[in-house]
Amino acid sequence: MDCLTSKVQISQFLDNELPQELLQPLFYHLGECEECRNFFVRTKVVHEGAKNVEYAAVPKELDEKFAVLEMGEKNVSLMNRKFTISVPTAIYSIGAVIVMVLFIYVSGTIQEKQIAEQYRQTMNLTMPFSEISYDRN
Ligand SMILES: [Zn+2]
Repeated sequence: MDCLTSKVQISQFLDNELPQELLQPLFYHLGECEECRNFFVRTKVVHEGAKNVEYAAVPKELDEKFAVLEMGEKNVSLMNRKFTISVPTAIYSIGAVIVMVLFIYVSGTIQEKQIAEQYRQTMNLTMPFSEISYDRN
């Protein structure tokens, strides 16, 4: 085995991608070749460092940015989903708003009428009906 093949196979081994039957020739070469042993050790360290970066050393701010991005995506998908089911919902909502506005308008009108009625009754009690005049004073 030449050293170039050995180094390629070392990388594959550390990625768990080296076929079982190639392990023995590789380790045999490592037993013979100090350069490849050193390469093995250095590459193993780099691989473990890379794993640590992946699992532990991601900067917090970066994590938060990803979280925000994820949230944004979720919001978009939620909005899309809402939009697709919202045609009847929108009609109901508009209907509910119209009913509410009508209710407020009607109850306001009723209140005005009640106040007017109360005013009229009060005036009737305090003076004879015939004396009520709108251009008095
Ligand atoms: Zn070698």
